[in-house]
Amino acid sequence: MGKRITSTTEKIMSRKSTDYFIIHCTATKPSMDIGFEEINRWHRERGFLSCGYHFIIRRNGVIEDGRTTDAVGAHCRGKNHNSIGIAMVGGVTQEDHTKAEDNFEPAQWESLKKLCDELHETYPEAQVKGHYHFSDKFCPSFDVDDWAKADLLWVEGDLVPGDPGYTE
Ligand SMILES: [Zn+2]
Repeated sequence: MGKRITSTTEKIMSRKSTDYFIIHCTATKPSMDIGFEEINRWHRERGFLSCGYHFIIRRNGVIEDGRTTDAVGAHCRGKNHNSIGIAMVGGVTQEDHTKAEDNFEPAQWESLKKLCDELHETYPEAQVKGHYHFSDKFCPSFDVDDWAKADLLWVEGDLVPGDPGYTE
């Protein structure tokens, strides 16, 4: 059996570098209106000290804080020491929780852009990646490169009208 950490005191180390903002989805049905509270409970049940993400973007677009921004996360094996984890709530179909689906709300896209733009001010060198860049998971159920190029002006290769993947 693995060792279960039961302490409620936060003993999470600070990160020394921030090379990536890693986008996740919670792999929950679109009808599930969850946020920090539920994820924090699930992650503690899995033995984490607390919610492994730094930010959670709820279905209504509200951004909730997880770990403090400079803490080491628990969201992407091998990259927790140098990344910030952002989770979009949703990402699987209503019928089948094993089936990836890009079903995020307009308010969530708006918040994701706002959050990444803000984080970029603090961590100008960090790149935006999807969890799938570092694992064989489908997480976060959309093409993060295409999204970043279309929505974030500071991402190299940003798209202009007419390019495939360009959105208003
Ligand atoms: Zn993920």
